Amino acid sequence: MTEKLYYRDAYATKFTACVLSCEAVKGGCYHIILDKTLFYPEGGGQPGDQGILGGVVIFDVHEKNGDIIHYGEKPLEVGIEVNGEIDWKHRFDLMQNHSGEHIISGIICKKYNCDNVGFHMGKDSITIDFNTQIPTEDLPWLEEKANEAIWKNTPIAISYPNKGDLEALEYRSKIELAGEVRIVQAGEYDCCACCGTHVKLAGEIGMIKVIGAQNYKGGTRLELLCGKRGLSNYRNVHQAASEVGRALSVPAENISKGVNKLLLEKDTLIQEMKKWKWDSFLNKIEKLPEDGENVLILEEGLNGRDMTALADLAAEKNDGRAMVLTPSDNGFAFVLVSRKMDARKIAEELKKDFDCKGGGKDQAVQGKLSGNEDEVVRYFVDKGYILVK
Ligand SMILES: [Zn+2]
Repeated sequence: MTEKLYYRDAYATKFTACVLSCEAVKGGCYHIILDKTLFYPEGGGQPGDQGILGGVVIFDVHEKNGDIIHYGEKPLEVGIEVNGEIDWKHRFDLMQNHSGEHIISGIICKKYNCDNVGFHMGKDSITIDFNTQIPTEDLPWLEEKANEAIWKNTPIAISYPNKGDLEALEYRSKIELAGEVRIVQAGEYDCCACCGTHVKLAGEIGMIKVIGAQNYKGGTRLELLCGKRGLSNYRNVHQAASEVGRALSVPAENISKGVNKLLLEKDTLIQEMKKWKWDSFLNKIEKLPEDGENVLILEEGLNGRDMTALADLAAEKNDGRAMVLTPSDNGFAFVLVSRKMDARKIAEELKKDFDCKGGGKDQAVQGKLSGNEDEVVRYFVDKGYILVK
């Protein structure tokens, strides 16, 4: 059994220990066991520590049958004494977030009489799952209540009550555990059995920010940021909001209004553009011959829907065939509408003369063909189509 120095002092970063074993495992990794350690192993939702042990990088730590296994990038000689130092930035971030998670979980479980049924501390944020639906309108109150613990600098105390006291104590994660139970008490806000490392005073958490809430397996999954993660997120979001605000000439707090106004303007412009486009189509159609001749319409910047609409209008007007072309990569996109019910046949002929893809029905085909404007236009004009530009 490795002696767990991190339970004596969660703030200690340096220690000396003896290497009891070192085993090479798959992937060029070494499993190192010491007689004692400050490296916290993954457990209770908290990831393992990182740091340096005898000059070797430790990138993860796990516990197995009471032994704490340090995952090293290089081997260490068995029997020697080594100096170890944990990555304090990494550990303190986990302590801030784990303690913050306890506080908000304690408040939520008490208010809704529910349980925390899942907890994951990811690299970017932490998620907590509750087996109840938390009303969205309650979130600001819950967030503020959790931050109240920080403003009051509530002490977070660790204790190991005896069996009798434990039975009388109300705490979260109350399950029958062999051996002593470690209780983490955050004042009036939370009391929970936990094996993780925590800050001593809630003030050290800095802030608790809920950044997401979604329905999850009939309950609610909250996404949370505490401490420096919360500050960094605020900085990034604020910077982005300020940039958008500057571009829209509105304060950062009003960017949603500014963006909505912009979207409305965009919708109006699209409607105007559609109308303008339709008018220009009708204008073009008016100039077409009415004697059943085939027409070739060449126009830039048309989308598929425009091309079909224009070809339909033209074919209706002249009661013949209407081929609409618009420049596309290395050639043209086309829509051919034919009242003579032979559009597919014409497309087959096109495929013989051009690199051409497409298909459809007897009265309408669409596709793409390669070629330059001169040769494509000449091809259709030679076949009797009247060019309309
Ligand atoms: Zn915990």
